[in-house]
Formats: sequence, C-alpha cells, structure tokens
Amino acid sequence: MTDPTPKIRLHLAAPLEAGAEIRLAPEQAHYLMGVMRLGAGAEVAVFGNAFGEWRARLAPTAKRAASLEILTQTRPAALPPDVDLLFAPIKKARTDFIVEKAAELGARRIRPVLTRFTNAERVKTERLQVHAVEAAEQCGGVYVPEVAEPEPLARVLEAWPVERRLMFCDEARDAPPAHEALRGLPKGAPWAILIGPEGGFSPEERAKLKASEFSLAVSLGPRILRADTAAAAALAVWQSVLGDWS
Ligand code: SAH
Repeated sequence: MTDPTPKIRLHLAAPLEAGAEIRLAPEQAHYLMGVMRLGAGAEVAVFGNAFGEWRARLAPTAKRAASLEILTQTRPAALPPDVDLLFAPIKKARTDFIVEKAAELGARRIRPVLTRFTNAERVKTERLQVHAVEAAEQCGGVYVPEVAEPEPLARVLEAWPVERRLMFCDEARDAPPAHEALRGLPKGAPWAILIGPEGGFSPEERAKLKASEFSLAVSLGPRILRADTAAAAALAVWQSVLGDWS
C-alpha cells in the first residue's frame, strides 16, 4: 500500500518537478517547523497551479530555515471551470470571507470591481491573495485563483469580451431564478458572476447591465442576501448547473 497523501499542504510558486530543491520562505519554514512541529524527513504535500500536487520532504538548513525536496507527483494540475467572480469590496472581514469562499468554491479568478455605491476602505489585493492561497491549501484544491487589482465596474463592462457570459445577480429579484436561467446552457463556456455592494447597484448600472448582450440577470431567491452570502450562493448554483458539481 502506498502512503496516503500528507495532510499538511503548502502552495509553492516555484516550479515543481521530481528532484527539485525548493528553499522555503521564512513564514513557510516557521509554519512547518515552528507551528506544525515537523522535523527533518517529514513529508508534506505541495502544489502549484501549473504543476499539480507533489509529495515533498522537509530538510531543515538552519534553526529557522528549510528547503523541501520534491519527490513524486500525487495529482496532476487541474484548472477549475472558467468562472470569474466579480464583486464590489465591502468591509474587510466580509471581503476576506468572499475571497476565501470563492477559492473553496472553485472560481478561476477573483476580480474586485468598484461600483457607484461601493464604499470600502482600500482593497489590499496582496492580503486577499494570501487568503485565497490559505483557502486552497485547506480545501485540498490544486489551484489558487488570482486576485486581480480592483477596477471600476464601468471600465470592466466597456472592455468586456462578448464571448464571456455574465451572471448578473440582481437584488431587484424580478429576474428568473439563477438555476432556471442557467439550465440548458452549454457547459464549458467562459462565464463570470457579478455581485453588488451592500448598497446594491445604481439604476444606471442596472440599466446598463440589463441592456448588455453578454449579461444574464438572475435572482437568488426571495430574500435580500448580504453580498458575502450572495457570492457563495451564486457560485454554488453556477457550479451545480454549469460547473464541476455535476
Ligand atoms: N441594498 C440592496 C441589497 C444589496 S445586497 C437592496 O436593499 O436592494 C448585495 C448584492 O447581493 C446585490 O447587489 C446582489 O448582487 C446580491 N443579491 C443579494 N440578494 C439577492 C437576491 N435575492 N437575488 C439576486 N442577487 C442578490
């Protein structure tokens, strides 16, 4: 019987291949040796978007420094379905939640968009990216979605590639329910999901979205959801109808 895949998982940006020696960043070395109390020879799982998941062996090089020796591949690289999550940043903890859930629910990219009623403090993309990495490590995925720099919604819509459909989650709730609107549409096509801020979309934004050929207005049920709930609910519906839940 082969050993089970090690439970401790680490995302590495460096190229992964058999025999590679990868020096860990100080916080990664601290996590493995200081927090998880691993010593020389302990095995962990490492992964990277383009390389899949590999078994790796810890080799401390100093009290607080270590490298990993990459052993054998345990899973091939795999992209999640092509669905981006666009959302208007909200309060810090709730924005963190949205990024974490988007990574767990298999969004390909995470794009903060600034809408008319967005009132969030500065968005720290780097910190959000760390949340996405931790979520992927924790949920057993082999893919970390990229967190893009925030952009104004109007500019994003102007530059929109027509072949990508946009599931516009409209809190007016007069659109068809999401699962009905998506049912029967071809799988494998590029998609994005749009969630507004706590203040909702402005009348102008809604009019523009409703008039765009690529956009599909949907409802997420009879109640008004908070933006973080709406993001997780929308991704769940999309994944179950057009994504990798089915
Ligand atoms: N202040 C707004 C609600 C905003 S909720 C109002 O009272 O109308 C934040 C975002 O979550 C919305 O912009 C929308 O994208 C999404 N959302 C929340 N509930 C929804 C629902 N029932 N259907 C579709 N989208 C919803």
